[in-house]
Amino acid sequence: MKTTITPSINSNNVILGGGVTGLYVAERLSKESSVVVLEKREKIGGMCSTFKHKDCFFDLGPHKFYTQLFGINEEFLRIVGEGNYNKVKKKNSVFLKGKRFQFPVKITELVFGLNPFLSLKFLTSFGLNLVNNLVRKRKIKNYEDYFIKGFGPVGYKLLFYGFAKKVWGNPKDLSPELAKKRSPVSSVFDLVKKMIFERNNPNVNAEYFFYPKKGFGAICDNLSNTIKNNGSTILTNSNLNSINHSNNHIDSVRYSVIDKNYDLSVNNLISTIRLPELITLLNPKPNPEVISAAKNLKFRSLILVYIIVNKPKALEDNWIFFPEKEYIFNRLSEQKSFSSELFPSNKTGIIAEITCDKNSTFFEQSDTKIFDLVIKDLEKANLLHQVDVLEFFTIRVKDIYPVYSLDYEQNLSVVMKYLNTFDNLFSLGRMGLFNYNNCDHCLDMGYKFVRYLKTENKSHSQWVELLSYFNDYRIVD
Ligand SMILES: Cc1cc2nc3c(=O)[nH]c(=O)nc-3n(C[C@H](O)[C@H](O)[C@H](O)COP(=O)(O)OP(=O)(O)OC[C@H]3O[C@@H](n4cnc5c(N)ncnc54)[C@H](O)[C@@H]3O)c2cc1C
Repeated sequence: MKTTITPSINSNNVILGGGVTGLYVAERLSKESSVVVLEKREKIGGMCSTFKHKDCFFDLGPHKFYTQLFGINEEFLRIVGEGNYNKVKKKNSVFLKGKRFQFPVKITELVFGLNPFLSLKFLTSFGLNLVNNLVRKRKIKNYEDYFIKGFGPVGYKLLFYGFAKKVWGNPKDLSPELAKKRSPVSSVFDLVKKMIFERNNPNVNAEYFFYPKKGFGAICDNLSNTIKNNGSTILTNSNLNSINHSNNHIDSVRYSVIDKNYDLSVNNLISTIRLPELITLLNPKPNPEVISAAKNLKFRSLILVYIIVNKPKALEDNWIFFPEKEYIFNRLSEQKSFSSELFPSNKTGIIAEITCDKNSTFFEQSDTKIFDLVIKDLEKANLLHQVDVLEFFTIRVKDIYPVYSLDYEQNLSVVMKYLNTFDNLFSLGRMGLFNYNNCDHCLDMGYKFVRYLKTENKSHSQWVELLSYFNDYRIVD
């Protein structure tokens, strides 16, 4: 490769990654200072992007916008712009034993909706488990223990085991922290209490969600336009080579576009790329303990199967969850129910999500083989039939789900402790903090981070406090 080092471009703030976190931080900073965003892909947006396929628009993974965070809904509305979004009444289901149940699950619907034998098994197992909980204090060591304690073995198997296994792997190998982050309820009592007293509690269930009429990618597209209008720069197709540092300070970033290398001097480096990659780019290298901890942070990958359907509408729900192993996908969605502007009136599209390891043979299966499995299961569930399918295609996204394995907190703490020794390096976002967070959390992080950066006489401990606050985000479906 030909190497040409151009003179340094001076920039106050360099941002690695043009997903929603990086772009939101860039937008806010670009009002007052010069910003350069380096994005490795051809297009900005990361996981929050929308693409066109013939006459249909699809998200890279279906997204809704919902938040309980102060001021963040207003930020979403500001970015997307008045009149450019829908407020959608959410309708989600979970498919269990051949039936659709409202999601989040209502305990009465479940008990009366299942076959009587299974309902009895569920209630008996819950009762015995309750006695067991009173008699002996159980240590919650993993995801499985957490939900068995609250729901009993049968309830856990029915409601939590299958989905966790599909998305993240064996629940015995997952941290209980994942259960806390992903579920607003920890027990049957919680479920009953929330059903009776907190039916409309926005912390438990998103009754409505917001969605940009032209697709979720509008958030990042609009942020990108403002950044450019403010005179800052977004460089796509940029390959990072190294992040150079001395005396606990980032000095410069070296990146290449096609066959040319460039050095960019740095005042503040804000990284939203995967933590393990950030660690490997640092020059000089961190000590072996940090490198090994970063390597041990695990991710799962995603296969998105897009199906174009020759009908105006296909599903009754926005999303349907499939925890049972009899179904290859873990979730189905129909984005036309978020915005009718995404598809022509006579067609719709559904997305089937399948999570797996990127090194598995399944990840490398042909599109046709994967589609054959998906359509077989859709027919089995009586949701869609082959004759209605006009076309299909797949997109594979590697390393998209952080896996909260039993040792992730220890590994993350080693990596973050090391990164926190730098005075001008800030790792943010879902990948940058190995944090199971949503788009609203990304905006909140960006907002609070920029406020921190602008604080005069700030102390490093304030940044560490912010990191701890980011770590407490909870997902609400
Ligand atoms: C299937 C799925 C469904 C989801 N649904 C929802 C939902 O309904 N609602 C919701 O709010 N959230 C949802 N989320 C979460 C949401 O997508 C994320 O929280 C958000 O997109 C994270 O943004 P980010 O900028 O932190 O990371 P990313 O979107 O991952 O952005 C990181 C960017 O960095 C770039 N990059 C990576 N490596 C490099 C490198 N070496 N050099 C330069 N650039 C690099 C990437 O290309 C990318 O553009 C969903 C996520 C998934 C996977």
